Amino acid sequence: MTSLSPLLKQATPVVVDHALGSWIYGTAGREYLDFTTGIGVTSTGHCHPKVVEAAREQVGKVIHAQYTTVMHKPLLEFTEKLGEVLPTGLDSLFFANSGSEAVEAAVRLARMATGRPNIVVFQGGFHGRTVAAASLTTAGTKFSAGFSPLMSGVHMSAFPYAYRYGWDQETAVGFALQELDYLLTTRTAPNDTAAFLIEPALGDGGYIPTPPRFLEGLRERADRHDILLIFDEVQAGVGRTGKYWGHQHSTALPDIQIMAKGIASGFPISAIAASTELMSKGWPGSQGGTYGGNAVSAAAGVATLQVVEDEGLVENSRVRGDQLQAGLLDIQSRYPVIGNVRGLGLMQGIEFTAPDGSPDAATAAAVQQATTDQDLLTLTCGPAGNVVRLIPALVVTEREIEQGLERFDAAL
Ligand code: PLP
Repeated sequence: MTSLSPLLKQATPVVVDHALGSWIYGTAGREYLDFTTGIGVTSTGHCHPKVVEAAREQVGKVIHAQYTTVMHKPLLEFTEKLGEVLPTGLDSLFFANSGSEAVEAAVRLARMATGRPNIVVFQGGFHGRTVAAASLTTAGTKFSAGFSPLMSGVHMSAFPYAYRYGWDQETAVGFALQELDYLLTTRTAPNDTAAFLIEPALGDGGYIPTPPRFLEGLRERADRHDILLIFDEVQAGVGRTGKYWGHQHSTALPDIQIMAKGIASGFPISAIAASTELMSKGWPGSQGGTYGGNAVSAAAGVATLQVVEDEGLVENSRVRGDQLQAGLLDIQSRYPVIGNVRGLGLMQGIEFTAPDGSPDAATAAAVQQATTDQDLLTLTCGPAGNVVRLIPALVVTEREIEQGLERFDAAL
């Protein structure tokens, strides 16, 4: 008999029978409150009726018609809908299937447009698992161990992780910007540097919102040195942080924006956005992919963005996120093993810390398992694996947040 077991984290995984909204119904009859959303993907909740309807209808019209060969209506509509919410000036889109592919497309474009080889990434960043995306990832050695050599031309600079440095945020930001300035005079000269690549809120690296002043400092330096600024909004985008895009907590704007996950509620589609002028420096023929911009995924994407707008889900993320964080801070006051609670909107991290101040991954793993026992699904993250992350659907209700907090407390 064949087996999937080497790929599974749990010996006895939850097997999903069906799912709706914030809930997963297991084959064994248990009902789980899902605070994982397929790793931040099912933004409008599981099987939102409008998304299901749009996909069903599209399957009967055209499933696949490669868009660089013949265009199809859902992609034109998705392009228009994304245009309504993208930062001004990012008026050209390229579509792929996954976050990693879009990250690769962004890096290819940055190198081709500037003629420069190097990319600066920031400590704890996660950008995917293909070889190039893993080369750009510093959220833990597990993402790249064992298959070196990685892509060359990647330089890591400091991230302002105030809690772990034991500093206030301003000091951490000042330090990280100084480190970047130093890097640009030592390891990669500005005229060898194509781009800075950063997440507006670290995802797999520990659910740490990137301080607005750091993003603004990157923008200043990018402008000063003619370096491109790439925001990886794969996890933080589409309302996840309580703003439409994670970077909108700051005034900084990207030259290239990467999107995936929440843009289509679970259908595989990703995109990069840039100005037409910049995008034209990487085309034609240099980008592509058989399945990129799939018609059914694009139709689901159109429905997703419409639901986000019609149901006020960005605002719901902010309000329910504040409720979730307030509850977590209350729980933290009763459990000294929780060192730090942080996050924006419905992207909240709980960092477990041993009495000597070191990361406590064993407790995080035990709590994560215990939440499953309480019928609450959660995930861990962080380079040391000591952060439990909560990623509810953007449609989550006040009562569901209360239930999540009760179950989390019971698990602790
Ligand atoms: N970038 C970020 C910020 C992510 O969180 C992820 C996935 O978790 C990726 C890129 C890679 O996306 P995918 O897993 O779809 O390749």
